[in-house]
Amino acid sequence: MTVILINRARRMKVFTLAHATYCEALGSCGCTVVDRRSGRRVAQSLTLATGARSPELPEAVLKLGDVIRAVASGELGVERIAPKPKPRISKTERSSVESRRTRPRKGSR
Ligand SMILES: [Zn+2]
Repeated sequence: MTVILINRARRMKVFTLAHATYCEALGSCGCTVVDRRSGRRVAQSLTLATGARSPELPEAVLKLGDVIRAVASGELGVERIAPKPKPRISKTERSSVESRRTRPRKGSR
């Protein structure tokens, strides 16, 4: 599922898509590797101007502490984009439940 973040604060907001949180939740890394040898990377950041809507982002952004706080304080709106509707299933398969015979219980205990 993807989400759109809306900046409702009166100031610009910048969120760092922290590797440990964001990339972990995402399952893939979108950071910029600065130094290949040391593997140093710089996390991506998301800048939202006042009243701006972000592009569709993976739900992983909701795991970020800054985002959680901003949403909780009402500074950030979250719009969830529902996944594509599933193709209609023409016939729901019913598991034919045969009338179960009530077994006489053996009260041997
Ligand atoms: Zn990363």
